[in-house]
Amino acid sequence: MPAEMRLFPCLKDNYGVLLHDPETGATASIDAPEAAPVEKALRETGWRLTDILVTHHHGDHTAGIDELKRRHGCRVTAPVREASRIPGVDATVGDGDTIKIGQLEGRVLDTPGHTRGHISYHFKGARAAFVGDTLFSVGCGRLLEGDAAMMWDSLLKLRALPDDTRIYCGHEYTASNVRFALSIEPQNAALKARAEEVEKQAAAGRPTIPTTIGAEKSFNPFLRADDPQVAAAIGMAGAAAPAVFGEIRKRKDNF
Ligand code: ZN
Ligand code: FE
Repeated sequence: MPAEMRLFPCLKDNYGVLLHDPETGATASIDAPEAAPVEKALRETGWRLTDILVTHHHGDHTAGIDELKRRHGCRVTAPVREASRIPGVDATVGDGDTIKIGQLEGRVLDTPGHTRGHISYHFKGARAAFVGDTLFSVGCGRLLEGDAAMMWDSLLKLRALPDDTRIYCGHEYTASNVRFALSIEPQNAALKARAEEVEKQAAAGRPTIPTTIGAEKSFNPFLRADDPQVAAAIGMAGAAAPAVFGEIRKRKDNF
């Protein structure tokens, strides 16, 4: 039986997501922005929380851990390099480690840049990756602890996942990301189509998530920093990809 996912809003613009294995009943919450919406999603689905998979130490991804753990006794898995800054950790993981949610097998990818120890979880069989604040639809996380070269490397790892991988990220930032991306690549047809889609999704009150790696490759400027057209568009023809990426990131910070 295929994995099931349940996405729901938390806090101001965070997303919570549950990953459920129908075979065994195991259910993981990816991050825990706050407990109440996770509880609501569990009630609505009838799923039992067995795990919390943490992507990074920021409060808007960890504030609900204590309460959920107290109520459900779930196992908390967290990035080894940030475990001391995350409450209730039972298991620590790093690049290449395998984790299991029931029968669902996932692999940990180190994706530093937003924070130095940030990790992502790729469930190949489920065709899904949980990327926290590393990659957003049409955007990427701010470089709060890492530098441009580090984040570019992390994005390359995610970009190498199969095109049909569904990407679950930590925030709904897509509309403002689209406005910025259009300032970089106004002629990109895939981006223009994404802009229209996002407008419709917003009008209908629907999330723009999940997206896919294949789609993001076509319109996310941060994944396109090694495309000569993108470099040329920002006046950096011939420059190395990490430098182009860094410049795009800087422009977004000031947009
Ligand atoms: Zn964060
Ligand atoms: Fe966040």
